[in-house]
Amino acid sequence: MSHRIVSLLCVDPIVRKPIKKLKMRFQAGLCPDFFEVKLPGGAYALVDGVDLHREAAIDAITLTLQLSGASEVAIFIHGNCKAQGGSAAFGNMNHERVVCENRLREAVEILVAALPTDVNIHAIYLPLEGEAHVLEMGTRNNQASHFGAFGLADASAFA
Ligand SMILES: [Zn+2]
Repeated sequence: MSHRIVSLLCVDPIVRKPIKKLKMRFQAGLCPDFFEVKLPGGAYALVDGVDLHREAAIDAITLTLQLSGASEVAIFIHGNCKAQGGSAAFGNMNHERVVCENRLREAVEILVAALPTDVNIHAIYLPLEGEAHVLEMGTRNNQASHFGAFGLADASAFA
């Protein structure tokens, strides 16, 4: 049986390719079903300072967890996201990554407070080229992480 993960993604179709790449890293039979929640900015919707955006994200994730029966959530911020002003807003790619990862950490803290305690939360920075960066700071139970299981946890890279 496939593994179910509720994902929070940006609405921008530009994320399709890197998400497909990420899924291809999972071995056959272990490839998770992503129940996709899409909002402008993805996980940035949780931390952009607009209450309505944060509430919409939490509400959609909570509802999707219930209907999917999933106990894992993966939240994404992608590179050059227009909701954050695009890459140009950051000056360089390294700074963009650092800021986005800090935003992901903040978003995980919000979800840790808002979601049931048996839900694992993964945060992934998804550059449009190069390596994704999986942050495993929201894991709260002993379930095996499908991200960690493939060596993607803690800054592991894949092209
Ligand atoms: Zn975006």
